[in-house]
Amino acid sequence: MQELTDKELLRYDRQITLHGFDVEKQQILKSSSVLIIGLGGLGCAASLYLAASGVGKLTLLDFDIVSKSNLNRQVLYTEKSINHYKVDEAKLALCKINNDIVIESINQQLDDSDLISLIKQHNIVIDCTDNLITREQINRCCFQSKTPLVSGSAIRMEGLLTVFTYQQDEPCYYCLSRLFGNDQLTCIEAGVLAPLVGMFGSMQALEAIKVLTHYGVPLVRRLLIVDVMTMQFNQVTFPKQPNCYVCASNINQIK
Ligand SMILES: [Zn+2]
Repeated sequence: MQELTDKELLRYDRQITLHGFDVEKQQILKSSSVLIIGLGGLGCAASLYLAASGVGKLTLLDFDIVSKSNLNRQVLYTEKSINHYKVDEAKLALCKINNDIVIESINQQLDDSDLISLIKQHNIVIDCTDNLITREQINRCCFQSKTPLVSGSAIRMEGLLTVFTYQQDEPCYYCLSRLFGNDQLTCIEAGVLAPLVGMFGSMQALEAIKVLTHYGVPLVRRLLIVDVMTMQFNQVTFPKQPNCYVCASNINQIK
């Protein structure tokens, strides 16, 4: 584990003084690498807090470019970012927040085998994408490599958050999505109120830090459902599906 410099001890003092967090957990963060997939509203907020918190390495994966209609909620971008790759603009912004960490950017769409190789180089993955096909790809690749995944979504006035660590008896994203059906709406079609994505991106960063440092109780096997129209916070537990094609014990090969 990497030691903290005097400068880092000062910079992260408010985390280090947190009861039970201490220097050791800050060292774990410094030694950790996080893959953030999707640099929209969720990804901007999640990467911002992970960079500021002192996670040693962030990899940003997204092949989209910044458009004007992104600016209301994708807070790492400015008007000058329009028509540039999101990952490049996000990297520029994050380097200004914390120049002591390593930030890599990849502006490609990856197939399963390349994505699994990339995931294996990281301690945790944060899914900040906005469509079911990509979410299912990330889930099966994380399952294959047994890399924890923090999954969040925010649409209209509702947000969802959960964590998968892929232990033997644990459900996966596919188990969960079967319960909810094939709602493939994105915020292009349904709209979203800007602070909601910031709220859920921040909570994804929070859960990632908890899993990385074994601090607190991560949101595993539980789904947080927030209706911000009324500010109702609810949680439901969800089971492993015995016939899940991703995580059921005897049929866990990628199709
Ligand atoms: Zn499953």
